[in-house]
Amino acid sequence: MSDKPPVNLVRRTAWPESVSRAVVTPLQPSVVYSSPDPDRLDDQYEGRADGFTYSREGHPNASVLASKIDALEGGQGGMMTASGMAAVTATMLGLLSAGDHIVGGDQLYGRCLRMLNQDLPRLGITATLADPTDATAIEAAIRPETKLILVEVVSNPTLRVADMTAIAEIAQRHNLILVVDNTFTTPRAYLPFEHGADVVIHSVTKLLSGHSDAMLGYVCAKSAEHQQAIENTIVTMGLTPSPYDCWMAERGLMSFHLRYDRAEENAAKLADHLAGLTGMAQVLYPGRSDHPDHNRAGALLGPRFGNMVSFVLMGGRAEANALTRAMPNMAFAPTLGDIGTTLSHAASSSHRGLTPEGRAALGITEGFFRVSVGVEDIELLKSDFTKGFAAVSG
Ligand SMILES: *Cc1c(COP(=O)(O)O)cnc(C)c1O
Repeated sequence: MSDKPPVNLVRRTAWPESVSRAVVTPLQPSVVYSSPDPDRLDDQYEGRADGFTYSREGHPNASVLASKIDALEGGQGGMMTASGMAAVTATMLGLLSAGDHIVGGDQLYGRCLRMLNQDLPRLGITATLADPTDATAIEAAIRPETKLILVEVVSNPTLRVADMTAIAEIAQRHNLILVVDNTFTTPRAYLPFEHGADVVIHSVTKLLSGHSDAMLGYVCAKSAEHQQAIENTIVTMGLTPSPYDCWMAERGLMSFHLRYDRAEENAAKLADHLAGLTGMAQVLYPGRSDHPDHNRAGALLGPRFGNMVSFVLMGGRAEANALTRAMPNMAFAPTLGDIGTTLSHAASSSHRGLTPEGRAALGITEGFFRVSVGVEDIELLKSDFTKGFAAVSG
């Protein structure tokens, strides 16, 4: 045996000093933080000192990212969550109790519809769905026990535009909490807090992060009391995100404005191109004058009509299969907001839980596709779809 002193490999050594500083935000995976003594820990828990203790309660990578999204949304003290659905969950469980009622848009994200129709009712929280393009339908759904309205500005996948001005006025008149899922519109096109929203939610997984490699949500309430209730739910229910996802998303967010602007410009051009293809039954893009909500979209979103384009192909499942097979370069995938263009088919993915009649009522047939337009050269996108449609009709 050597008489060298033992080396403590388990002890963490100090980070090497450097006069020059890292340019990039560090990734901090530590779950726990050590304190000098119990008094200092008291100071932190009682708000006299800043800092982190245990990462379920917060960590630096989430704080850095949330403060950037706060700045975009014009909010304060927003929180990151493990997914967009975790943000919706934290909002509902944090702000509502058994006996409360929700009015929700009838074309919300599929899992939100499930939460309102199936999961929250088990806890005694009920919901009525109504068409958010028709403010009188939203108002008619309100009951004495209604506490909250949950809407998206642009619906999935038919891209209908909610009557946000009237809905905000109704929420205020009935003293209801207005929750806006701003995932599709993003703060580039719409700022819910400037238009009467009380809570803003994002699936950061989509456009804000933008590369389909981080799953995250964000939630920010206007009132400190609401924000505290939501934060307690996030920490207690364990809806906190991983530092790695926050770190990845911060990098993605750096190019958000550039990606968004390019994708939106592409979407407008692609919508017009699609409308001219043989075999096309209908193109849905709020920026086109043939869209049912074109005028409202213009008033609400300015010229920011977004990166989502939907279309209806003539034919049924066989033609839908033929189209995706003829476009192998384009990801056929049930997501949106990626830097590259993705194609999704509602009947076999987001809306597969509905009956064919239920889908038909929304205008979703086997030929219905949604395109999340990315930043590629527009000529590439046009030629991909031209080839795809030629294969279907040929
Ligand atoms: C994707 C999405 C969600 C859910 O977000 P996840 O990050 O997948 O949990 C919620 N709302 C909208 C509008 C979405 O597109």
